[in-house]
Amino acid sequence: MNDGNPLLQHAAQLAQSYLEGVGDRPVNATATRDEIQGRLGGALTEQGDDARAVVQSLSVTAERATVATQGRRYFGFVTGGSLPVATAADWLVSAWDQNAALHVMSPLTAAVEDITNGWIRDILGLADSWSVGYVTGATMANFTALAAARHHVLAAVGWNVEADGLFGAPVIEVVVSEEAHYTIASALRMLGLGGERVHKVATDDQGRMRVDALAGALRQVAGPCIVCAQAGNVNTGALDPVDDIATLVHERGAWLHVDGAFGLWAAASPALRHHVAGIERADSITTDAHKWLNVPYDCGVVLCAHPDAHRSAMTLAAPYIKDTAGQRDSRAYVPEESHRARVVPVYAVLRTLGRTGLCDLVERCCRHARRFAQGLADAGYEVLNDVVLNQVLVAFGDDATTERVIAAIQDEGTCWCGGTRWHGRAAMRISVSSWATTAEDVELSLAAMLRVARQV
Ligand SMILES: *Cc1c(COP(=O)(O)O)cnc(C)c1O
Repeated sequence: MNDGNPLLQHAAQLAQSYLEGVGDRPVNATATRDEIQGRLGGALTEQGDDARAVVQSLSVTAERATVATQGRRYFGFVTGGSLPVATAADWLVSAWDQNAALHVMSPLTAAVEDITNGWIRDILGLADSWSVGYVTGATMANFTALAAARHHVLAAVGWNVEADGLFGAPVIEVVVSEEAHYTIASALRMLGLGGERVHKVATDDQGRMRVDALAGALRQVAGPCIVCAQAGNVNTGALDPVDDIATLVHERGAWLHVDGAFGLWAAASPALRHHVAGIERADSITTDAHKWLNVPYDCGVVLCAHPDAHRSAMTLAAPYIKDTAGQRDSRAYVPEESHRARVVPVYAVLRTLGRTGLCDLVERCCRHARRFAQGLADAGYEVLNDVVLNQVLVAFGDDATTERVIAAIQDEGTCWCGGTRWHGRAAMRISVSSWATTAEDVELSLAAMLRVARQV
């Protein structure tokens, strides 16, 4: 045995020492932009620098210039960490450097996709016929799903959108909730459907789509129609009543898309599963793996009940590309042609957690979120949402006070939470999405929040 490639060994050691320290350092980045530029910048050299020195300088700079999202007390946005097995699997993916596009390019990746697709369908309670693709995140999953929807609703009225585009096409009515994630609008824009040319359905106090309002909206539109619901509001965590929505949407003959970027994983817990009841009645579903499933960036998953529509929307033929006979080619389900084997960390996580481990991960984050809510409420602060999943919204007083407290919490460095607005008010948003967060981290963070809030 030789010692392998010293550069890779060195990088692995540096990565490991980063991970060992990341739970205890200030969560926020403390390096300034100038400092980072100073360490890494300068003119591109003629001869290039030594590889070991480049890796070393990236690593040294990262210590204070990254945000410790891999630590245990990062509660910003909806950001998962990366389980060690997922990071390990991702290293293998980089080492293998497989192009996942075609079965013939990587039989390993193709097989891992087949296996993992089955597991994900099983967790969600979806029929085996659902097609699955691994994209960069929920944004592209929404894009892919809505491309399949666009194909399907126009094919039903005799229009081939892939061939003929939208010029002169029958009008597609798109119905979204007023709380739809903004990346639904990004996807609609890229698809030529217009980010703002949508019918917005009113929501309730938790941000759930109101079924009566949806019924009203559907009565007003004729022709091809796509409805976008959501499982997991980025502020409150609330989930739209998908079962009731599905009934209305299907009566109308429309397509139902559900954006479940993080909330969909409620399906993994018998205690929470009722929140996504009816999900199997959707026509397409989006989820992220880099959020609650805790794989490294980037990985999202698109699922579709109409594989033909999914493939028709994504596949273009080329003379040198023959679909491998009888095999599933990954390229047919994603917008990218060449792409990384991003399914592999997903496989590794599901394989090691099993049903129980996945359920524990989801329930643990929800339990931590409830503890935050209770601790903040006990101290007299106002929790603005019903904590049904892993999201908590809290106000520390008027808007200016809340904003000052958020900034001070970020500076203090024990934990990191972001700000948002909810129903016209400034709020701090706590999202518990990392596998690494322990009950002790929650107590430490809560104590820091309360200490800082009293001082402000
Ligand atoms: C995070 C999120 C998105 C966007 O996901 P990316 O992975 O950032 O592309 C879309 N919808 C919802 C509900 C989300 O929470």
